[in-house]
Amino acid sequence: MGRMPALFVGHGSPMNIVARNAYTKSLASLAGSLPKPHAILVVSAHWVRPDLRITSSAAPSQLYDFFGFPDGLYKVHYEAAGSPGLASRAAALLSNAGFPCREDADRGIDHAAWAVLIHMYPDADIPVVELSLDYRMKHASLFDIGAALSPLRDEGILLIGSGNIVHNLYRIEGEENATPYPWALAFNELVKVAIAKGDRETLAHYALPVEASREGVPTPEHYLPLLAVLGSMREGESAKIFHESFQNASIAMTGYLVS
Ligand code: ZN
Repeated sequence: MGRMPALFVGHGSPMNIVARNAYTKSLASLAGSLPKPHAILVVSAHWVRPDLRITSSAAPSQLYDFFGFPDGLYKVHYEAAGSPGLASRAAALLSNAGFPCREDADRGIDHAAWAVLIHMYPDADIPVVELSLDYRMKHASLFDIGAALSPLRDEGILLIGSGNIVHNLYRIEGEENATPYPWALAFNELVKVAIAKGDRETLAHYALPVEASREGVPTPEHYLPLLAVLGSMREGESAKIFHESFQNASIAMTGYLVS
């Protein structure tokens, strides 16, 4: 097996768990085009803490970390195994790079991981590990986190950052296919250009007083997993868009494949 790519996946609303749309189909066909990974490491927008942790249970619970959605969503089972071996290997790589990371055997797998993986690997037959976001970190450190984890890509591990490049729940529209706001389009474009140029300065300091970024990223947690994925990029690799759409007017579902 050669080097695995790394992915940034927009996960959007939990309604995507049971939806079949262009976005969910893009995940299924992407997974079909990749070598089957030995295990998956997800940097989660839904695990924000004052430290860096990685799930280390061999049988992590499935977290239904969303509220007020139809009952059916809470009955969807995605019970992949964990991987204590991958957790300790990743924690060692991070610690060696100056990012102490604690193995957490109690924490389960949240929907940032399983809402995506259910479309990619519906049989749940690949072990999954999640990494938290440490909110004390400088945003640019996420690039270093990705670089520290990058050797795992040579060991059959699929690295996924799961969030959304534009994610504004205050401005959300009920209709999935609502016309995206101009600032949502603008911020998605700003990020696209910065990625194409390899402009990490702009990517790390997106919160400059630009209207598009104020509205596009009112809170950073859904955006930051992107930086970890970009940080895992190697010499000669690039980030290509594998899917681009908007949902509910204020969420970009743009996905990038690094290879
Ligand atoms: Zn989310």
